[in-house]
Amino acid sequence: MSNDTLQKGPVHVLPSLPYAENALEPVISARTIEFHYGKHHKGYVDNLNKLIAGTEYAALKLEKLIGETAGKPDKAGIFNNASQVWNHTFFWNSLKPKGGGEPPAALKKKIETDFGTMDALKKELTTAATTQFGSGWAWLVLEGSVLKVVKTGNADSPLTKGMKPLLTVDVWEHAYYLDYQNRRADYVAAVLDKLINWEFAALNLE
Ligand code: MN
Repeated sequence: MSNDTLQKGPVHVLPSLPYAENALEPVISARTIEFHYGKHHKGYVDNLNKLIAGTEYAALKLEKLIGETAGKPDKAGIFNNASQVWNHTFFWNSLKPKGGGEPPAALKKKIETDFGTMDALKKELTTAATTQFGSGWAWLVLEGSVLKVVKTGNADSPLTKGMKPLLTVDVWEHAYYLDYQNRRADYVAAVLDKLINWEFAALNLE
C-alpha cells in the first residue's frame, strides 16, 4: 500500500471505550451503550470522515477542526460531527464504574472555594442538565481560574468559548431514553452519584 493510499483512509477513528459495555450497569445499560457508543458515536466519526474526505479539513486534528468550523453556518455539518466526536469521547471518560463519591483533595478544595460545597456543585450540574431544553450537554469547566457549570445545546462545546472542560454529562435523549424514558432527572442523579469520574476531572484541572 502506498502512502498516497494510506492518506485517503479515514482520518478519525472511534476511540475504544475505557470500560466494557456492561460496566456502567445498572445505571446505564449495556443496551444503551451498544447504541450510544456503537451507533451514535461511531456514526459521528463515520460522517465526519465522509464530510472532510479530500478537503483541507482532513489535515486538521480534531480540536483544531472544531475551532476552525465553529460558528460558520456553511460548515455546520463538519462542526456538528467533529464536536460530537470530541464530546462523546470526553463523556465516556467522564464516567467510570463505581464512580461518584469524593473528588481528589485538590479538586475538592477548588470546588469548595468556587461553589461552597460539593452539594452546591451537584445541584448546579443537576439544574444545568435538567433545564437544557432539548438535546445538549452539562459541563464542569474552568474559565480563567474559576470553576463554572455551563450547558451547551446540540453539538456545541465549551472549547469554542475559551473554557477548559473538566467533565460532562450527555443529556441527549439517546443517552438515557432506553433506561429512563422521559425521566432525565433520575438519569442525571444516578450518573452524578454512581458514575461520575472525579479523578478524570482532577486530571483536566492540572
Ligand atoms: Mn450522545
